[in-house]
Amino acid sequence: MKLLIIGGVAGGATAAARARRLNEDAEIVLFERGEYISFANCGLPYYIGEVIKERDSLLVTTVNDFKERYAIDIRIFTEVTAIDRDNQQVAVKNLKSGETYHEPYDKIILSPGAEPFMPMIEGIHLDNIFNLRNIPDSDRIKTFIDEKKPESAVVVGGGFIGLEMAENLAVRGVKTTIVEKLDQVMPSLDFEMASFMSAHLKEKGVECILGDGIRSFSENNGRLTVNTEKSEHLDCDLAILSIGVKPENRLAKNAGLEIGRRGGVKVSATMQTSDPNIYAVGDAVEITDYVTGFNTMTPLAGPANKQGRIAADNVMGRRSIFRGTIGTSVVKMFDLTVASTGANERFLIKNDIPFLASYTHSGSHASYYPGAEMMAIKLFFSPSTGKILGAQIIGKEGVDKRIDVIATAIHGTMTVYNLEELELAYAPPYSSAKDPINIAGFVAANILKGDIRNINWNEMIDIDPETNVLIDLRNPDELKEAGWINGALHIPLPDLRKRVKELDPGKNYILFCAIGLRGYVGYRILSQKGFKAQNLSGGYKTFLGAKEKIMAESPDTPLWKAE
Ligand SMILES: Cc1cc2nc3c(=O)[nH]c(=O)nc-3n(C[C@H](O)[C@H](O)[C@H](O)COP(=O)(O)OP(=O)(O)OC[C@H]3O[C@@H](n4cnc5c(N)ncnc54)[C@H](O)[C@@H]3O)c2cc1C
Repeated sequence: MKLLIIGGVAGGATAAARARRLNEDAEIVLFERGEYISFANCGLPYYIGEVIKERDSLLVTTVNDFKERYAIDIRIFTEVTAIDRDNQQVAVKNLKSGETYHEPYDKIILSPGAEPFMPMIEGIHLDNIFNLRNIPDSDRIKTFIDEKKPESAVVVGGGFIGLEMAENLAVRGVKTTIVEKLDQVMPSLDFEMASFMSAHLKEKGVECILGDGIRSFSENNGRLTVNTEKSEHLDCDLAILSIGVKPENRLAKNAGLEIGRRGGVKVSATMQTSDPNIYAVGDAVEITDYVTGFNTMTPLAGPANKQGRIAADNVMGRRSIFRGTIGTSVVKMFDLTVASTGANERFLIKNDIPFLASYTHSGSHASYYPGAEMMAIKLFFSPSTGKILGAQIIGKEGVDKRIDVIATAIHGTMTVYNLEELELAYAPPYSSAKDPINIAGFVAANILKGDIRNINWNEMIDIDPETNVLIDLRNPDELKEAGWINGALHIPLPDLRKRVKELDPGKNYILFCAIGLRGYVGYRILSQKGFKAQNLSGGYKTFLGAKEKIMAESPDTPLWKAE
């Protein structure tokens, strides 16, 4: 058996190690275009920010160590330029010597990754514009910062890498502006959740220009000007382009392998391409969305590593299946942790998938133990079965473990009723007797059981002020501190029972408090007294996150003008 692996980082290196562990006799050759194999691309922004101090720490393993441990023929600075499927050989070029040759194969595992998307606009090749994909890219950015001491930067694109770079540039004292074409950062999240992030970026001195794309770059006395579609001209010392990645599909395409609609290499659940002798993994492939069964691409390290292992299993005759991705991800953004898993609202709507959403705001641990922080959880679930479809969580503490619980629940096709029941570790420094996951489960299950009728912020946009009345259940000092919604009746929850006689049974009452808990209690009171009522999901806190969009979409509705 002669196995060729193309690409030596996340998927490729994993596949190589696994293949060797399963087959001591196989001949395994690993081709890597660059100088390094198995390096920590995910650590690159933190190396630039000097959170990771030593460059060597980025090397998960060295070529020599890997060679010694796994007896693999590793060829760095070596590019595979073509796959000749008829003759079962690849064309190879040594990028140092220029030498070219052919290498025969029995099987191939392709793991060429994805390349940063480069818009072909004026000025794109100017010196001070950087991409970040590998160690040489991070060297270039870090050297520029170390030597030129830039004062300001523009990060184009507000996804994972853009946000991580914005934070790390800010940590290095560089005044940073993010330009993002969408009206929010972090496209995997929904608008109202992402708005917590933009507010936090602002607090940390990072400006966000949202809803605007870049038109061109120009030089300006050694500095750079970023010209946006809405005619902003942003002078800066450097720009980082992080507007997404596209699969490196050239080899596969030229070899006539089937390519999916999104440009990724099509693979089966065993990671086999349309050619039974060629497998493909990682950022370059299209895979199945575990929740919906649709085709998708998830350029993340977790799936790439798992798929590398699975492809190696199958190549070596052990059947192994990749059941799909749920896109679980987490990102640190200054003091916030932002995480998501499964589907988001835009995706569910676009694909006509029925869903309900709940919002909860819970403490990361018992409020009486110091250091508890609130986390916002948005949970999606099926209206008919309660099956969990996705979640987004933002907060300062304990977000990563909660998203992992929900990711596990999705993988186990669990429902919101299971979330109610989950017995999770509790002591005051870590959680509450009702963990935020349980709370999210309770609220979602309450909705399904009809114990509460919720209204989500986006349903408020078209609401008729003649038939609906808002009731603010918070205490007066909370209104002073956090603001209020014009036109809402103010009845603090403790007064609701005695003031119920002031209410008109012909109206629908939309109750809200800070986060939704008192709204639920208020709902139970009014509904049992025969009133039509709804609880504003996630309370005033979620409403505030969505306020801009509500204002933009219904500017003439006086009711929603939050102060
Ligand atoms: C800055 C940054 C931060 C990231 N942070 C995270 C994170 O926090 N969490 C997360 O889950 N994911 C993160 N990712 C994404 C993650 O790194 C990728 O999803 C993962 O590395 C994909 O693995 P892969 O094997 O498909 O491709 P890669 O790891 O990119 O490896 C592909 C390799 O193939 C080589 N290659 C391509 N074509 C050829 C050829 N023809 N011949 C020889 N060699 C070739 C390339 O040089 C490259 O080294 C980050 C990525 C970047 C760039």
